[in-house]
Amino acid sequence: MARKGEEGKATEAVESRAPHGALKTARVRFAVAVGVLALAAVGYFTATGMGNACAGGWGDLVLLCPLGALTAMVAQHAIIPQAVVSLVLAAAVLLVGGRFFCSWVCPTVVLGKVLPSSRGLKARGDESAGCSEAGCAACARGCGKARGVKLDSRHAILAAAVVSTLIFGFPVFCLVCPVGLTFAGVLLVMRLFAFGEVTWAVLAIPAILAVELALLPRWCQNICPLGALQSLVAVGNRMFVPTVDRESCLKATRGVSCDACVQVCPEGINLHDVAAGATTLADCTKCRDCADVCPAGAISFPLLPKGTPKISTVSASEPDEPGDLREA
Ligand code: SF4
Ligand code: SF4
Repeated sequence: MARKGEEGKATEAVESRAPHGALKTARVRFAVAVGVLALAAVGYFTATGMGNACAGGWGDLVLLCPLGALTAMVAQHAIIPQAVVSLVLAAAVLLVGGRFFCSWVCPTVVLGKVLPSSRGLKARGDESAGCSEAGCAACARGCGKARGVKLDSRHAILAAAVVSTLIFGFPVFCLVCPVGLTFAGVLLVMRLFAFGEVTWAVLAIPAILAVELALLPRWCQNICPLGALQSLVAVGNRMFVPTVDRESCLKATRGVSCDACVQVCPEGINLHDVAAGATTLADCTKCRDCADVCPAGAISFPLLPKGTPKISTVSASEPDEPGDLREA
């Protein structure tokens, strides 16, 4: 009876926490992304800037976007030292911080506020609801799907971006990339107000962005080749990995029907059964939505992994025994 009362309180805690109402980190991420755009705008205006996410740096040290660096070399059929350095540094950043760029720096974070449907939370929630192999012994060992990258439409578009560059001799995808278009839009709007420069692009760029992000609301999850490229390297990321403390998790310890962390994840990661998610931890963008929404505060992002990322298969009706912690 006492346990029932405890479960009731826990369930109330889950229900009272509106899934999308407590995402406090989202506001910080929005502020950071706006700050990056503002910094680029000031740089454009004063001609002392550090560039933008497509090509940024200082003086002779300019780093390229990894997709831009890769396709530039494909286009020129040559090894470009600047592109190689950019790719190596991007790989190092991805190994340390994973795909944090996508949630903290990418201008789609800002565009998502203007066009709310462009960054649909729960974008992959339905797909991650089940796993045909849920509970199989492979999960306990950390099957290939859980530990690696799940290839999807984004990776096919990444391949198409490389092949089209090969065919046409220039990075075709850069023409429609929302990252580049947003920074270009900031520059054009700034020049419009500062110097009265009126060009067709002032109208065309926002129109293209609106079409991409409004008509293709799952751009980030289903289309973005930059995210796909990052996931191929971020598979080696072991720092700041979201980790569930099973002692605190309501689902694991009290059998409460809670999957708030699964439902809120925009990347479709299931922290309780990574193999069942639409994507793996290689696609975690460190947005912290899962931690913010968890009614028990059970999710943290430790600097260094305690062993390896914890993967467990738990069921609301059959909570695991304490200590039945399965690690990949
Ligand atoms: S696992 Fe958590 S931090 Fe990672 S993408 Fe999903 S909600 Fe964001
Ligand atoms: S870790 Fe996930 S399932 Fe567990 S209490 Fe937090 S939100 Fe609920």
